[in-house]
Amino acid sequence: MNAKLNPKRTVAELKELRSFTADENGAQRVAFTKAWVETRAWLRKKLQDLPVEVQVDEAGNLWATLRGQSERALLIGGHMDSVPNGGWLDGCLNILAGVEILRRINAQYDGRPPVTVRLVDWADEEGARFGKSLFGSSACSANLDMNEARGLKDKDGIALPDALKQVGVDFERVKESGKQWNSAAAYLELHIEQGPVLLDLNLPLGAVLGTFGVERHAITFHGQAAHSGSTPMNRRKDALLAAAKMSSEIYRIAERSNGGVCTIGSCTTKPGIVTSVVAECRILLDQRHLDAAALARMLKDAKEASERFAKEGNVTVSWERLWQIEPVLFNKDLVQMCSDAINETCGKVHRLPSGPLHDAAEVAWAGVPTTMMFVQSLHGISHNKVEDTKEEHLEMCVTAFDKLADKAIEWVRAKE
Ligand SMILES: [Zn+2]
Repeated sequence: MNAKLNPKRTVAELKELRSFTADENGAQRVAFTKAWVETRAWLRKKLQDLPVEVQVDEAGNLWATLRGQSERALLIGGHMDSVPNGGWLDGCLNILAGVEILRRINAQYDGRPPVTVRLVDWADEEGARFGKSLFGSSACSANLDMNEARGLKDKDGIALPDALKQVGVDFERVKESGKQWNSAAAYLELHIEQGPVLLDLNLPLGAVLGTFGVERHAITFHGQAAHSGSTPMNRRKDALLAAAKMSSEIYRIAERSNGGVCTIGSCTTKPGIVTSVVAECRILLDQRHLDAAALARMLKDAKEASERFAKEGNVTVSWERLWQIEPVLFNKDLVQMCSDAINETCGKVHRLPSGPLHDAAEVAWAGVPTTMMFVQSLHGISHNKVEDTKEEHLEMCVTAFDKLADKAIEWVRAKE
């Protein structure tokens, strides 16, 4: 059998997928819609020539299993769903590279590799319709908050459990998908970077160290409304003045943190009229770092700064936590193998954290040794029809990811 990997075929299949799932505004493969069901039917056809067992688990995740000499399984994952008006690579590159790697492994080992190899297409990674990302993988990892998810509705008022029923998924049973971990020994995910780091370094590929932890807070400064004309500047309790000082301070906090990022993404004022000093100003702060201690320090710095600015401006401040998630560090051995695979493919490697969350974070949470590989994104942009990656880089990432799969198979086998 011909055991040669054909990365050009992956690029051709990505274009084929685009030809029937994208319009002039970009990819339209929102999870649990007709287009998504059609996409999965197409994927099943691609898998038809392989001796794989295809099944859909209780959470709607699709698994293609190539049985090996050992039950212990190497997992390769991605997601076929997209945001509305999405890019042509986000999620599906991972899956189609995985299909190509399955073909190579199947040919090389005559249908029976040393360990089992499983490709998983996670259901609703993007959360575009119900506002809840990582649905399928978080159900599998048992992180999914069932009460919260049960109440989610799309913009037409359709509840998530009803949308799931349409595609044959029983919401109350989604966590039973957790049994998929029983044989899982390692998990690999390839993804476009979706940011500009590799582009700025002029590097095609990167090894991902983990996903950022997040601290998200609403910070409210409380001052006093007063007439814009009659109140002297030195008599004001201006809630906006203190909030505005935070907007430059977070740049200094992020800089000191060595690798973290901070964003004030929203600012609302009351009474919100130009003839009154601002009585109340609420800003939303998002802070992210790969290191838990550094993240905690960034948060402490922001709290101290807010209190200092409040005092300076004769106003008060209160904090409310909106959301928090711990950083997820990937498996050291697998990150090293990923670096080696990249080095062997293109001679240069960069290690970087992932800003966005990915299904890989849920898998790592579930205790499965995990890593990811990033390929450069042109313009550093994703979730947009302009999302793109050079074809030579796409081919290179399939080659490097295949080398990583090979190393991981050996690693899983050796740990038996
Ligand atoms: Zn994605």
